[in-house]
Amino acid sequence: MPRRPVIDGLEFARTGSRLQVNWPVSDFPRVRDSLRADTGTIDCELEGIQEQLGRRALRLRLSGTLQLTCQRCLGSLAHAVRVDEVLLLAETQAEIDAEPVNPEAPERILAGRQMQVHGLVEDELVLALPIAPRHERCAGEQPGAAATKPLPFAGLKDLMHGGRH
Ligand SMILES: [Zn+2]
Repeated sequence: MPRRPVIDGLEFARTGSRLQVNWPVSDFPRVRDSLRADTGTIDCELEGIQEQLGRRALRLRLSGTLQLTCQRCLGSLAHAVRVDEVLLLAETQAEIDAEPVNPEAPERILAGRQMQVHGLVEDELVLALPIAPRHERCAGEQPGAAATKPLPFAGLKDLMHGGRH
């Protein structure tokens, strides 16, 4: 299995080709900066398809786990990546530019004869990163625990006042 597969996008879609590859998380420099640790692998499945309107597209599925840092407790947070995207292939940039902007529509990408699968995967991984990762419920040290802990001399002050009437 080549580490950096390259596909002819339109041909890959037309022939309904499939490709399965996995990469170490550490292979994605644009994602690595957001990680607590770059361990693990990303499983990738790319499939050439024709969507409902007969347009050629790539279906990209990714799964794996990214090690992030919880923004609330600063503990480690295992973020499951589950991507399933249809990328519509356009033959020219003009075709993409002519398309009205619609966030609901499948993503449009420029087809090429030598498309780097690694780059496609990295783009989707960047999009899959949460802006502010947080545990649903943080374990261990609670935020603000230090603030609610009584100060060592707080009781002493009360004692001193209590002794004087
Ligand atoms: Zn947390």
